[in-house]
Amino acid sequence: MKKKNRSLIVLIFILVFAVAGTAFYLMRMIAEDAHAEEIKRAAEEAVQKQAEEEAQEQARLDKIKEEKAQWYLILVNNYNAMPDDFDIETVEVEDGYYIDARVHDALQEMLADCRDAGYSPRLISTFRTRETQQYLYDHTANKADTAVPGHSEHECGLAADIVDADSLGWGDPLIDAQEDMPAQKWLMEHCQDYGFILRYPKDKEDITEIIYEPWHYRYVGKEHAEIIMSNGLCLEEYLKNMPDYYKAQ
Ligand SMILES: [Zn+2]
Repeated sequence: MKKKNRSLIVLIFILVFAVAGTAFYLMRMIAEDAHAEEIKRAAEEAVQKQAEEEAQEQARLDKIKEEKAQWYLILVNNYNAMPDDFDIETVEVEDGYYIDARVHDALQEMLADCRDAGYSPRLISTFRTRETQQYLYDHTANKADTAVPGHSEHECGLAADIVDADSLGWGDPLIDAQEDMPAQKWLMEHCQDYGFILRYPKDKEDITEIIYEPWHYRYVGKEHAEIIMSNGLCLEEYLKNMPDYYKAQ
């Protein structure tokens, strides 16, 4: 082969390699660009998703806060007095016992269904005026068992003390044995279906600071009553940890 031809072949080889190398380099650059673009897009999407989730959670917390302020979730205990301007309109349920007008139907339905099931529930205390609560407080033998005036759910018209009619002959029907009475057992099992909770459970006395009262039912609405009763909570615990339990949907 002539020297000139060999040089030409070498030159062609060099050119081919140069072109192929450049093409390869360009393709890699394009691929890297696309990859970088993909990473950037994924990161942006992740940030956007997180922001959306945070906004959703904030909306949920806002809704819980709003729900907490509803009349049926009012917390009245030794540390929380009922507001001075608490507006209340009561109507009679039966036998001269009055309850908040908004709770009337639920209570009446619960009592009627309990009776239909063959039991004998009897109201023994519902709405109390400030004067009545003051009288009870002034005349009780044990002040620790009676709410200070302004701190009783009975004054809010949201609570009802219900006993089994068969316990009315006892000296005092408001004792632990009330829990074994047939009407009481039915009420404890079904109260949440009507929006009521057993407000002072046996194992929560250190939180409620009220003795176990297997007769005191408090209206909180069906949705909350269901959560509170099925999780074995007292109202104080529920309100404190509401975001853990209430989905606000
Ligand atoms: Zn009571």
